[in-house]
Amino acid sequence: MDNLAELIKKISERTNLSKEEIERKIEEKLVELSYLISKEGAAYIVAKELGIDLLEKKDRSLKIKNIIPGMSKVDIEGKILKISDVREFEREGGVGKVVSVLLGDETGTVRVVCWNSDISKLASLKEGDSVRITNAYSRTNIFGNVEVHLSENSSVEKIEKAIEVPENLAREGLGPKRKRLDKIKEGEFIEAKATIVSMLENRFYSCPECNSRVEKISDDFFCKDHGKVQPVENLIVSGYMDDGFGAVRYLAFRDVAEKILSMNPLGKELIFVGRVRKNRLYGNLEINIKDVFPLNIEEEIRKLCG
Ligand SMILES: [Zn+2]
Repeated sequence: MDNLAELIKKISERTNLSKEEIERKIEEKLVELSYLISKEGAAYIVAKELGIDLLEKKDRSLKIKNIIPGMSKVDIEGKILKISDVREFEREGGVGKVVSVLLGDETGTVRVVCWNSDISKLASLKEGDSVRITNAYSRTNIFGNVEVHLSENSSVEKIEKAIEVPENLAREGLGPKRKRLDKIKEGEFIEAKATIVSMLENRFYSCPECNSRVEKISDDFFCKDHGKVQPVENLIVSGYMDDGFGAVRYLAFRDVAEKILSMNPLGKELIFVGRVRKNRLYGNLEINIKDVFPLNIEEEIRKLCG
């Protein structure tokens, strides 16, 4: 349940009444009902008498994280985080067109897909706009993710409403950005298609309790805080990757390092996802790899098409 201040604000927004007038009406309602209900309860009654149904409004709004595949009527509000270029493809009887929009709200992000003549519904919209989409439907794409699709019955309307998309959700939705290695910048979360040209393996041991490095004395390992411990073995791989445009130093730790090793990567072209950071000692950029994938030709073609 909303608190009283929020309820008063909502009533005020949807009527021409000032906060003071609404508070007075709530007080009058409490007197009328001999203080048998709470102020919040009285606010709901006042709202209802003014023709506003606060409860109904609240229940109707669908949040992005609650969209599941197969919904035949999706009505959502969100902020446009990204609009793709129009992608054209061959189809029976001519050329097809598709545009996808990344839409976010405070609960998540979803890709909204729009085909052919329905693309005109997105005209004049830009990144950062808040929109209300009505009468869309949902389905899963070939990657198993839920998407919202517009149909000829759908409408898209720009609304004046500030919608906050938490930064981590927005970043997740946008995904890593494919970059050339000669164009990377500090702090970026990127994806690169590159070949590992050199690799160094390094193992060190750490304390299972506090993760700090342990010292090996004869055959035992000692943590300065936890004494003799059974250490955790950690792997680091580092070296250079090259994508034909630039060569950049990379590092990978533990599970990611193991995954890279298991792919026997030297000389292979792979897809790397990672964070660009500045080497503290030398000041040059390097990539802290977070994940690695074999090259997927279909996915590469899809990327080339936008
Ligand atoms: Zn320790």
